[in-house]
Amino acid sequence: MNTARNVVIVGSGPAGLTAAIYAARANLAPLVIEGEPSSTSDQPGGQLMLTTDVENFPGFPDGIMGPELMQNFRRQAERFGAEFLTEKATKVDLAVRPFRIWVRDTMYESDAVIVSTGARSLMLGLEAETRLIGHGLSTCATCDGFFFRGQHIAVVGGGDSALEEATFLTRFADKVTVIHRRDELRASKIMQDRAFANPKIEFLWNTVVSDLVGQEKLEGAVVQDALTGATRTLPVTGLFVAIGHRPNTDLFAGILDTDEAGYLVTRPRSTATNIEGVFACGDVQDHTYRQAVTAAGSGCMASIDAERWLEAQHSSPT
Ligand code: NAP
Repeated sequence: MNTARNVVIVGSGPAGLTAAIYAARANLAPLVIEGEPSSTSDQPGGQLMLTTDVENFPGFPDGIMGPELMQNFRRQAERFGAEFLTEKATKVDLAVRPFRIWVRDTMYESDAVIVSTGARSLMLGLEAETRLIGHGLSTCATCDGFFFRGQHIAVVGGGDSALEEATFLTRFADKVTVIHRRDELRASKIMQDRAFANPKIEFLWNTVVSDLVGQEKLEGAVVQDALTGATRTLPVTGLFVAIGHRPNTDLFAGILDTDEAGYLVTRPRSTATNIEGVFACGDVQDHTYRQAVTAAGSGCMASIDAERWLEAQHSSPT
């Protein structure tokens, strides 16, 4: 494989693969370093690989499975000449041009870099999570709330995300139980007031989820009183984990600017980072929308930004 590239794309969720489609169609022959299949945070295809039905991606009126959608993205990029490395980028040097990216011992050089390493939802660390994610266990109310009409579901967490998700989920569910490990919420006052006023929301204080019930799909959550240690099973058909997100930025620590929450900073109305020629798109730079379609949109932007930047480099006098 050619190690001298026009564009290297690190990460292969909707943002990275859309960037790959656009860059490939601009004849830039991008290399996508797509991640490691065994990893839960850097898996090729990103977070959609952990979902089942996707009903909100435009163009699929009957819905599509997350992994199938990502396979389609990948095939579309490949069709126009994008190349893929199914490994993790292990080191970068963005202080020199061309930029350098290592995959273990192999160094790739690239004129432009697009970072689309995504983010991951923090999870509870229960063994059953891997089995039930996408089967009643979810990290995205916007994506999955619709599947729980008329049901009793629970949300774990006590921050703004948990209360926002709980409030949103009452549009579908009959009852939403917020499970919080303390007796005081971290969420803003306005979100608290809204949740307390909602008759469909109830709170379980000082409570942790210690196990999940169900083999093929979620049938309940084992909850434990943090003060007494007593456990019981809450008969919920849906459990939304809303205990925070982490952007996947380790590779760029100290190199690319991040905000206070650790997300990469891009210039307004652009995907440009603090290093000229390095662009960022998708969830690694977005903690507001976090949708496949918005990630894909920003991947398109990153590719166009990279293409224009490369064009300007080549046409500027030396
Ligand atoms: P967060 O503020 O960090 O809250 C995480 C919550 O999850 C906390 O209540 C925490 O409990 C709990 N938690 C953490 N680890 C846990 C574990 N292992 N088991 C059980 N509970 C656990 O995260 P967030 O709610 O995602 O919000 C992130 C940022 O985005 C915040 O700045 C927030 O204001 C912002 N945000 C804003 C909006 C909005 O304004 N509309 C919506 C969503 C998010 P403790 O309280 O005990 O630590």
